[in-house]
Amino acid sequence: MSTSPVRRFVPPHGDGNPAADARAGFRWEDVDVLAYKADAASPFRDVTRQTLFRRDDLAGELRYFEVAPGGHSTLERHAHVHAVLILRGEGRCLVGETVHAIREHDLVTVPPGTWHQFRAAAGAPLGFLCMVDAVRDKPELPDDGALATLTSHPAVAAFLAG
Ligand code: MN
Repeated sequence: MSTSPVRRFVPPHGDGNPAADARAGFRWEDVDVLAYKADAASPFRDVTRQTLFRRDDLAGELRYFEVAPGGHSTLERHAHVHAVLILRGEGRCLVGETVHAIREHDLVTVPPGTWHQFRAAAGAPLGFLCMVDAVRDKPELPDDGALATLTSHPAVAAFLAG
């Protein structure tokens, strides 16, 4: 682990052609990439997580999530807040019972106890910074009743269907 206060951004590169480069993941020196398995039964698809800042003397954490084209984060809610900055790509997010288009540099606030999910557009990864409390509660997944309530809104049903 480097002790330098600066950890360099590693420019994404695929196999050298522009399309592959555009899909390659953002990386930083000395930051581990946690990759989740693509699995139809799991509540997320094609998401990686990198914790950029976490210190005992810091009350928050800053993470970077990257959702592969067509992938999505977990549909969940919890008491802690998310403060999100879209760093790359575009897609849609569900916050509460409303679906929003999101693109690079937009800011998204997820208030306490609010259902939320991020979905990447088909053509490019969706990468976002997410600030959270360092000490936070565990996410809750929707049960059948919560899902029924959410999908009673046609726009939400269409969003969750991909
Ligand atoms: Mn969350």
